[in-house]
Amino acid sequence: MEMIAEPERFRRACDEARRSGTEVGFVPTMGDLHQGHARLIKAARDDGCLVALSVFVNPLQFDSAADLRAYPRGLERDRVVATSLGVDLLFAPSESAMYPRGRPGISVDPGLLGERLEGSSRPGHFRGVLTVVAKLLNLAGPCRAYFGEKDAQQLALVWRMADELNVPVQVMGCPTVREFDGLALSSRNARLSPQERRASVALFEALSEAATQVRQGERRGDVIRAGMARRIAAEPLAALDYVAVVDERTWEDVGQLDGPARALVAARFGATRLIDNARLPWSGGEDMHNGGMHGLPREGA
Ligand code: AMP
Repeated sequence: MEMIAEPERFRRACDEARRSGTEVGFVPTMGDLHQGHARLIKAARDDGCLVALSVFVNPLQFDSAADLRAYPRGLERDRVVATSLGVDLLFAPSESAMYPRGRPGISVDPGLLGERLEGSSRPGHFRGVLTVVAKLLNLAGPCRAYFGEKDAQQLALVWRMADELNVPVQVMGCPTVREFDGLALSSRNARLSPQERRASVALFEALSEAATQVRQGERRGDVIRAGMARRIAAEPLAALDYVAVVDERTWEDVGQLDGPARALVAARFGATRLIDNARLPWSGGEDMHNGGMHGLPREGA
C-alpha cells in the first residue's frame, strides 16, 4: 500500500492507475476505521477497482470546536487496518495541505436539503462536507466513489452534487453495517458509557418499529414518526433530536406513504450524538436490512 500526504501526488497516482487501464474506487473517510468503512473498501475491491482511501478529519464540517478536538485520530492504526483490507493508496493529507490558505472562500452550497434534518441540527455541516468531498473528488478524478447509507442524507447530497455539477464520478451507496444488537457502527460509539451503549439500541428499535408499522399497513407519516419518537422517549438516557420519514426521491416529509421512503432518527446519549436511518419496506421493495438508496446504483445490484 502506498501512503500519500501530498494532494498533487494523490492526483498523479489516480491518473496513473487510469492510464494503466484500472478503474479507481475512492473511499473518503475521516479515519478511525471500522467495519462500516471496511464494507465500502470491500465494495470497491469487488468492483475490480484500484482502491484509494482518504483519511482526513475535515474541520469545515464540524460546528463545534470541542467535537472536532474529540474526534478520534490514529493514522498508524488506520494504516495497518487499511493494509489488511487491501487498500492500494492511502491518502492522508494534513489540514494545511488541504486548506493552505485557511478556510476556503469558495464552498459548495448544499441547497435546501442541506438545511434540513442534520443540516438544521448542525448548521454549515453539509456545506463543509460537500466542499471537502468536491476537493477530494477533483483530486481523485473520474472514479467510482463509495459512501455509506449510514449517512443517508450525506449520500443523497453527494449524489445530487455529482449529478447537478457534472462531477465525473459514479456515486455508489453501500448498506449500513451494524453491531449484533442493531446499533450502526460509528467512530462515535466508543464515546458511549456502558449504560449509554445499552440505551443506544433505541435508535435501531425506533427504525425497526417504523418498519413493522409499515408492514402492518400503516401509511400515515405522522403516526410512524410518533411511534419512533415514543420509542426514543421511553429510553431515559436518550434525548431526541429528530425523527423523520421522508420520500426517498425528494427528501420531503411524507404525509401519506405511497412510494419508497426512509425513516431517520438522531438522538443524544450523554455527550454523544448518534444518527441512524433505514429504508422503509415497500411493496415489491426490499426490507430495511438490505434496501438500497432509491435512484442510486447499489453495490451488488
Ligand atoms: P466517516 O469516516 O464517519 O466520515 O465515514 C466515512 C464513510 O463511511 C461515509 O461514507 C460513511 O457513510 C461510511 N460509514 C460510516 N459508518 C458506516 C456504517 N456503519 N456502515 C456503512 N457505512 C458507514
